[in-house]
Amino acid sequence: MRECVFCQIVRRESPAYIVYEDDSTIAFKDINPQAPVHILVIPKRHIRTLLDIQSSDEPLLGHLFSVANTVAREHGIAQRGFRLVMNCGLESGQSVWHIHLHVLGGRKMGWPPG
Ligand code: AMP
Ligand code: ZN
Repeated sequence: MRECVFCQIVRRESPAYIVYEDDSTIAFKDINPQAPVHILVIPKRHIRTLLDIQSSDEPLLGHLFSVANTVAREHGIAQRGFRLVMNCGLESGQSVWHIHLHVLGGRKMGWPPG
């Protein structure tokens, strides 16, 4: 997936402000933040959409949520509250076709989402 910008970030071919990394996962600041804290947690392996997840990916998906908790704690939004978002497909607004968990916080969130 040479053309995927998130794969390029994983390979350090594109710049990013990386805040967390382990064997399977990387987290970096969103380039167009929608809240004071806006970090993307992604699997290093290219998975195009949530619909492409296999049952064997379940531990990986669970791990993304653990990393999101770590990121939220480290950025001071765990106690005040934060929002996790994963968009899937065109009508959701998915614009990068490599799954990513948005970690958003640092302001009051509205509901319903836009
Ligand atoms: P989504 O609309 O759910 O697919 O979210 C994609 C997110 O990726 C958006 O919030 C973009 O601002 C963000 N994004 C796109 N390119 C980059 C990049 N090179 N570095 C960091 N964030 C990016
Ligand atoms: Zn990718």
